[in-house]
Amino acid sequence: MEGTITTEVFNREKAEATVKALRESFRSGKTKTYEWRASQLEGIAKLIKEKESDITEALKSDLAKPEMETYLHEISLAKSACLFALKNLKKWMKPEKVPASITTFPSSARIVSEPLGVILVISAWNYPFLLSIEPVIGAIVAGNTVVLKPSEIAPATSELFAKFLPEYVDSSCVKVVEGGVPETTALLEQKWDKIFYTGNGKVARIVMAAAAKHLTPVSLELGGKSPVLVDSDVNLKVAVKRIAVGKWGSNNGQACVAPDYIITTKSFAPQLVESLKITLERFYGKDPLESADLSRIVNLNHFKRLTDFLDDEKVSDKIVYGGQRNEKQLKISPTVLLDVPLDSLIMKDEIFGPLLPIVTVDKLEDSYEFINSVAANPLAAYIFTKNKKHEEEFINNVPAGGILVNDTILHLANPHLPFGGVGESGIGAYHGKFSFDAFSHKKAILSRGFSGEAKARYPPYTTGKQKI
Ligand code: NAD
Repeated sequence: MEGTITTEVFNREKAEATVKALRESFRSGKTKTYEWRASQLEGIAKLIKEKESDITEALKSDLAKPEMETYLHEISLAKSACLFALKNLKKWMKPEKVPASITTFPSSARIVSEPLGVILVISAWNYPFLLSIEPVIGAIVAGNTVVLKPSEIAPATSELFAKFLPEYVDSSCVKVVEGGVPETTALLEQKWDKIFYTGNGKVARIVMAAAAKHLTPVSLELGGKSPVLVDSDVNLKVAVKRIAVGKWGSNNGQACVAPDYIITTKSFAPQLVESLKITLERFYGKDPLESADLSRIVNLNHFKRLTDFLDDEKVSDKIVYGGQRNEKQLKISPTVLLDVPLDSLIMKDEIFGPLLPIVTVDKLEDSYEFINSVAANPLAAYIFTKNKKHEEEFINNVPAGGILVNDTILHLANPHLPFGGVGESGIGAYHGKFSFDAFSHKKAILSRGFSGEAKARYPPYTTGKQKI
């Protein structure tokens, strides 16, 4: 199939040939037209509709992702991204008129959004459909050609893209390359016009170093330890349901915006823990390892990484709920830990799984120093409070990629908001118009006629000399 490059044959030469072919397609100019961009979006929308059951099956195979989660978090969000782009594409493509300035009088000024050229999208395994297709949509709406490299850790979804995407889009401009480190390394050696990477900060540094060799700009969509601050004035039942669904209802905690840990006051913590226990039992029953509503851990490496957190002797007596595991089935039950020591493993790294530690403080105000020392610049930060002053303090004191008040994860579903990190949680943002901008160059155009000559502008500058 023309748009798919299989792993067996993929090496540096193949990567070079792929970029060359895409650059030729880009130079033909066809990707710049509205018609081409719109037809690609229609193709992707059709793929999502016609292959919905294949997508659901792929995600079941990769992660045992519950069907409802697949629908809400992957299919429906991908469909919305596509339709939103289709609806707004003409408007986004129009040059933006900006005010003229007195120094350039008389003149007119505008900003023209131009495609960058040939884009590389490297995607992660945890939302393997959405995190692949949404940047591809962004690259297309901005008029680029693109290679998608899905994550090898979600092989069924990767294969689905390789098999079906070329059938629904212009395969001379949109290609899928499957593979892991060797294939990605071969791709990274090439000169791209932008690299869009989703994943962890360690690999992000490899991506950025490779990009630097060619002065290629990057978007890096990374993660972090996203805190949830819980005030004592909240509607506890609602707050806990929203925390639980953002944690365990999001790929069993394997989500970049999943709540990583809770901070609350010492006096409020017992009520919070009680409410979490009741809610979790309602959601997932008495034997959550058997629940069909929880994704499994993606693979043995990640299973071991998570069980190492639990086996750390500093936290083994801190588990107040859950803690069950089944290595054969790669399952870990929703687990809550209270008052974990700050030097325990679980408080050092992003958890990215079903474990939720609770840290307690004397007063909420004490949280900020802690949040900013544990992992400054998380991708998301959440506060539950009715107190406007606490809300404002939180917004002003936590330098996160995004903040959500009285809920979790939903901010990423609003296409009018940029989605991206800051500092360790990433560079750049996308979604909605931000995706179009992420893959466009903003070309500045100043236009003048032949009147309005200011003599002072031209040499000779010394007074008394003849000026033209
Ligand atoms: P992953 O293992 O799927 O890796 C991501 C991509 O990097 C893959 O395509 C993989 O092939 C490639 N890769 C891995 N090692 C490489 C290397 N040495 N050289 C070149 N490429 C390499 O995903 P992951 O990193 O385990 O993803 C989890 C992390 O991603 C978490 O930190 C999470 O918070 C973050 N994340 C962020 C977002 C976001 O939108 N901001 C979304 C999902 C995940």
